[in-house]
Amino acid sequence: MAIIIDGAKLAQEIRTEIKAEVEELIKSNRRAPGLAVIQVGDDPASTIYVRNKFKACAEVGMESFGFTLEDSVSEQEVLRLISDLNTDSRIDGILCQLPLPTQIDQNKIIFAIAPDKDVDGFHPYNVGLLLMGNPEALVACTPLGCMEMLKAYGIPTRGKRAVVIGRSNIVGRPMAALLLSADCTVTTTHSHTPAEDLPGICREADILVAATGKAGLITPDFINSDQVILDVGISRTADGKIVGDVDFATVEPLVKAITPVPGGVGPMTIAMLLKNTLTSYRRRMAD
Ligand code: NAD
Repeated sequence: MAIIIDGAKLAQEIRTEIKAEVEELIKSNRRAPGLAVIQVGDDPASTIYVRNKFKACAEVGMESFGFTLEDSVSEQEVLRLISDLNTDSRIDGILCQLPLPTQIDQNKIIFAIAPDKDVDGFHPYNVGLLLMGNPEALVACTPLGCMEMLKAYGIPTRGKRAVVIGRSNIVGRPMAALLLSADCTVTTTHSHTPAEDLPGICREADILVAATGKAGLITPDFINSDQVILDVGISRTADGKIVGDVDFATVEPLVKAITPVPGGVGPMTIAMLLKNTLTSYRRRMAD
């Protein structure tokens, strides 16, 4: 039986710590940290994510500022809003919920957010710092949450082999960069990795991070008994259940430690958004 890495519990502990820090700030007559969230259109999944972010802010005493724009909004209008938020002294973090409608160039939006308010860690400046191993980087929340889980469970990284499945800008690539900075030997695999090679590459891993969104991809032939698996994937089955990339029922009994889905990486992502917002606030206040 594997150790179940309880992301929900850990995320709650982090949120409690952040809440205490925010209460201290308010007691000493400082303003609360502020997060601005831009949502374009009314995609139901995005609406749920945004609502959860507001709820998380409220719980820890942070201020949130929501901007819901019409699906037909022009790129120029979104850029104008970001420019205002960049100079708004009440706001420490800005994020724009992705995906965006086709008339808006996602990269232009990411590039427009001031790097010091880029709490999603998507701006090239922060990505550059991350690749350089510079701790000043604001780091994408999901991979940051994965690293926090490894730390909290005392899972060593130095000299270990890590395999990341997926190379997206929001999960796979920053994950690989963080593991590299944590002294792992890192292999990144992706959709062009020959399917017949993937199990063998993954079996070599001390730490396996799966971030594909392909339900049940990771089966017992991908693993070894000393392995720690972080399952980032989220898929919905035909009967409405949320599952990860790992075939949990067959894999869990065979590995050392594993994150469940739900209740693993997911809750850590929002906790890291709060953490990044507080970091950004503290840096701004120290200026
Ligand atoms: P994405 O679609 O941008 O990237 C998926 C990656 O997986 C790609 O790099 C692709 O090359 C790779 N891939 C796909 N099929 C593969 C296969 N058969 N073999 C090897 N590689 C394969 O998705 P993303 O944004 O990186 O998200 C990945 C998954 O993580 C999704 O299920 C997403 O919902 C989930 N996610 C979860 C959280 C969270 O908080 N838990 C946050 C972000 C994303």
